[in-house]
Amino acid sequence: MKITRIETHVCHARMRNWVFVKVLTDQPGLFGWGEATLEWHTRGVVGSVEDLAPLLIGQDPSRIEYLWQMMYRQHFWHGHGIVRATAIAGIDLALWDIAGKVAGLPCSKLWGGPVRDYVRTYCHLGGGKMEDFYETAAEDAQRFADLARKAVEDGFTAFKTMAVPPTMPIEGLKPIRAAEAAVRAMREAVGDGIDIMVDCHARPSPAMGLKFGQALDPYGLYFFEEPCWPEAVEGLAAIKRAITTPVATGERVTNLAAFRDLFAAGACDICQLDITHCGGLTEARRIAALAEAYRIALAPHNPQGPVSTAASLEFGFSQPSYIICETVHADVPWRQDVVQEGFTVERQGRLVRPNTRPGLGITINENEVKKHPFQQEIPQVVFYPDGSIGDW
Ligand SMILES: [Mg+2]
Repeated sequence: MKITRIETHVCHARMRNWVFVKVLTDQPGLFGWGEATLEWHTRGVVGSVEDLAPLLIGQDPSRIEYLWQMMYRQHFWHGHGIVRATAIAGIDLALWDIAGKVAGLPCSKLWGGPVRDYVRTYCHLGGGKMEDFYETAAEDAQRFADLARKAVEDGFTAFKTMAVPPTMPIEGLKPIRAAEAAVRAMREAVGDGIDIMVDCHARPSPAMGLKFGQALDPYGLYFFEEPCWPEAVEGLAAIKRAITTPVATGERVTNLAAFRDLFAAGACDICQLDITHCGGLTEARRIAALAEAYRIALAPHNPQGPVSTAASLEFGFSQPSYIICETVHADVPWRQDVVQEGFTVERQGRLVRPNTRPGLGITINENEVKKHPFQQEIPQVVFYPDGSIGDW
């Protein structure tokens, strides 16, 4: 068995261009799907897949670890920059899809699963509609409450919000009070039985992240995400020590060694590795093993397209410390036209029952993908009141 071709299929989905990666073999009808979506870097990722392809064409696709090492270590530059780590992930996912199809088993069964009966999922406020999630101002507490009620009506028992506004490295009380009011409104709207997460998007400095974390601590958040830049490892650790709310981070961390540094510093309770950015399922399984040694929970970052979701779920059915999977369902109305999935979602509770098909269990409808060709992503830029650059 040999790899004959690697294709990218770009599908414009409003905020993101989904980059689907198809690895074809010399066996009739045998191919695998992966995903390498990286918003605002679509051309770079597509080019990176093209750059990697000569290392893989003619190789045996069942040698996944060998090929991962080839992609990561050959050509001198190690593959942990965000663009190449994403390209590697897209190919790696497709190789695992092929391995499952050859074995006639869902990927989770290749890794000793299933370890659970279902995977719990959570949504963004607005279900993935970018305006609701990213553009609801922290001052608009009532809007947060309304969207929170809607998430619960849609069957979710957990949802994520961006209730922390962009702030300069040091600011006074106003943004803290705004975040607090938004979270209080949501808690009052949905009660204590629903899990609320706040994603800071690494907007705050460590000092501001600490202030937000302490202000929101009484509201019993399920987790408090990216309270400062992920590279500010000691800042994360200080925030984690100062609050009882579990701290989550990892969506921008792309390799095992960087996760080691986070874990060893006591910088997080929840590892939000992104399977499409951290080098794929091959590296994700190593990161999960390391997290296990620290008893750190797994909750993958997954706001991308349907192959990313399928891979995140297969991973979840094989990982004991996996607690919940991020999902979006309302980013584009035609999302389900692009894919057939092997798993089922129970609307009440939004619990996912295991995939029963081989590999990642998905079929991508290439004709539907062609209806949504590449478009430049909508810019998301943030400036502070004085015109200086902020973090989105
Ligand atoms: Mg996030």
